[in-house]
Amino acid sequence: MEDVLCPGAERGSESVFDPGSLADPSKRRFLHAAGMLMAGLLVPRAGAAQSTRNAAGSGHKVVVVVIGGVRRDETFSPEGLVNIPHLSADLLPRSLLYLHARNEGVTAHFNAISSILTGNWQRVDDWGKLAPTTPTLFEQFRKGLGVDRSDTWVVASNKALTSLIGASSDTNYGPAYGANVVFPKQLMLTAVVDALRNGRSANMADRSKVEAELESAMAGSNYEGLGWNVFDASDQLDPRVRATIQNAIAEFVRSGGPTSGDELTFFMTREIMRKFAPQVLTVAFSDVEAAHFGSYSLHMSGIKTADRLIYQLWQEIEANPDYKGQTTMVVLPEFGRDPDGSSTNGFFNHRANTESTRDTWMMALGAGVDKPQTIERPIRHIDICPTMASLLGCPLLDAQGRKIAEIRG
Ligand SMILES: [Zn+2]
Repeated sequence: MEDVLCPGAERGSESVFDPGSLADPSKRRFLHAAGMLMAGLLVPRAGAAQSTRNAAGSGHKVVVVVIGGVRRDETFSPEGLVNIPHLSADLLPRSLLYLHARNEGVTAHFNAISSILTGNWQRVDDWGKLAPTTPTLFEQFRKGLGVDRSDTWVVASNKALTSLIGASSDTNYGPAYGANVVFPKQLMLTAVVDALRNGRSANMADRSKVEAELESAMAGSNYEGLGWNVFDASDQLDPRVRATIQNAIAEFVRSGGPTSGDELTFFMTREIMRKFAPQVLTVAFSDVEAAHFGSYSLHMSGIKTADRLIYQLWQEIEANPDYKGQTTMVVLPEFGRDPDGSSTNGFFNHRANTESTRDTWMMALGAGVDKPQTIERPIRHIDICPTMASLLGCPLLDAQGRKIAEIRG
């Protein structure tokens, strides 16, 4: 096995630590200040932007949710069920649960998600500096059926992803057929930076205080310590998308509820579903990756957050007329984590070539599921892309993965 390290795990904890914890006072202050600033940035909500186009292909919609690395021990095991009450009690009775969904490739984030999205085991740069080498589900869908970019989205909290997750380097496909890729945390910071640069908070009584707070957060090392990066991905978005995102961020910050990277990702995902109703949606949660920092309690809190947000996402699918009755959602970890007592610090990492790291589970629910049941037969992560492509009515490409028999459109 070649390099299977989580890149973040090798470069010090700051680079991946993103607990989303309100216990961190610098983060709490930052969010408070950002919220006050964003309140002054609110733009009139774009009018009804709801798509009126017809769905392509089969009309089926697919939502693929990945949640970083979690072990069976903390999830679908007798001791773990208490951590996932929504998955195990609310969703399981209507789901297909594959007890063994295997990652047999590189157990690092970018490669794991690339393999899920392409149907082939990918071995590209762990930090997402190179695109997957074979077409993603988004490209297969868009090129195969002539679909617009606004119908394919990736919304991610995961710092190990880059916008290259949205399209492959295959010259017959590539970025022209790729997905919109959005990192809500980065966009939020970009918005704050823009606001400071442009002085757009003039209507705020305590503007100077807020700006000073934000500037010290951004200038000091503690802004990187928040685990957030700024880059200009938002410049690639069209104005309508940008307005949607601004609104979602402002609503999120002003809501004053629990705050973490995954909460923001969920808010953004829901807004995108309501505005654009994409047919193919991938959501990458990653609060559980606080494990790299060595905090078991933050890792556990990440699992509980993911459990709740996945349930809320399903509730949105059930409540949203563009999704209800015509959507299949699959949920899976990217991999497990290393076993306790291992030489790699156990739950901290996901680099050991062991069952604890490779053998995870997958839950499927919705229109593609005829009969809820638990399946013991192992499936592989690369089987997900051809299964989703088939649900969408895409012409199937040659791939290492195979359609999963029980999931049908
Ligand atoms: Zn990781």
